[in-house]
Amino acid sequence: MNTFSIAIHGGAGTLVKGMMTTELEKQYKAALKEALDKGYSVLESGGTSVDAVEKAVVVLEDSHLFNAGKGAVFTADETHEMDASIMNGKNLNAGAVSLISGIKNPISLAYQVMEKSEHVFLAGKGAMQFAKMNNFAIEPASYFYDDFRHKQWLEIKDTDSFQLDHTKKKDSKFGTVGAVACDADGNIAAATSTGGMTNKRFGRIGDSPVIGAGNYADNKTCAISCTGSGEFFIRGVVAYDVACLIEHKEMSLLEAANEVIHKRILEIGGDGGLIAVDAKGNIAMPFNTEGMYRATKSSNGKEEISIYK
Ligand code: ASP
Repeated sequence: MNTFSIAIHGGAGTLVKGMMTTELEKQYKAALKEALDKGYSVLESGGTSVDAVEKAVVVLEDSHLFNAGKGAVFTADETHEMDASIMNGKNLNAGAVSLISGIKNPISLAYQVMEKSEHVFLAGKGAMQFAKMNNFAIEPASYFYDDFRHKQWLEIKDTDSFQLDHTKKKDSKFGTVGAVACDADGNIAAATSTGGMTNKRFGRIGDSPVIGAGNYADNKTCAISCTGSGEFFIRGVVAYDVACLIEHKEMSLLEAANEVIHKRILEIGGDGGLIAVDAKGNIAMPFNTEGMYRATKSSNGKEEISIYK
C-alpha cells in the first residue's frame, strides 16, 4: 500500500504575529485540525484523494475564520463572490466555478462541475444556474455576514483600494483555503476555494479557480493548491510551473516547490505560498510570507499544524 497523506492550508495571509492572541491561535489550530482529520479519515478508510480534499475544504469553508465559504470577504458592492476549483490527478479531470454567491460550499459545486458537466469552468449567472439545477441550496446573505470582515470592508469601501491578504496590512484579511492529498492507491488531487480580495470589483477573479495557476493535479508530477497575490500567481502559472520543474527538470517535489515560491514568483513580485503532494505521499509547504495557516498528516505517522515559520 502506498503512503497516504494530506496537507491543507488556510491562506498565506496570516494575522501579523503581534495581533495573534493565544486564544485566536487555539481557534485557528483547532479549525485546521478538524479539516485535517476529516480529510485524513477519508484516506484512512480507503477513500479517494479527490473526496479527501473536498471534505477537508468543506470544513474550512464552514469556518468563519478563513476567507472562503462562510468567512468570505466583502466585494465593493457589499456582497460575496466566491471562486473554487478541484482537480483529479488520476485522469486530469477538473472542475471550477467563479463569481458565485450564496453557495455554502463552492468546492462541492466545483466538484459537481467536474463530475456532472461537460465543461471545466463555469462562472457567474451560468454557474448559479448549474448550482440550482443540481439542487444546491442558496444561503441568505446573513449566513456570510461576519462583523470583523464587514469592518475590514468599511475601512476601504469608497476607495479604489482592494485588500489582498499579502499586502502590507496583513492584519486586515485572511486568505484562501486548500487541500492536496495522496491516497492509498497513489492517486493525488487538489482543491482550492476563496472569497478573493476585500473590496474587489469589475468581476475580478484570482488564481484560485484557474487550473494551472492556483490549483493543479497530475499523478505524474504533483498536486498543488496555492494562496497568494492572485494576479502574480496567474501570470506565473504557479501550480503548473511546479509540475513542469518536476517533469522536465527532474527536480524533487520539495526542490520544485521551493524554486517557484522562493525564487520564480518573487522575481515577478508575487507573494504567498502553496501546499504540494506527489504520488508517493511526499509533502512540501513553502511560503514567502510571514506565515501560512497549514497542516499535514501522513500514514507514516507525521503530523504538523503550524502558522508561522
Ligand atoms: N489567491 C487568492 C486570490 O488572489 C487570495 C489569497 O490566496 O489570499 O484570490
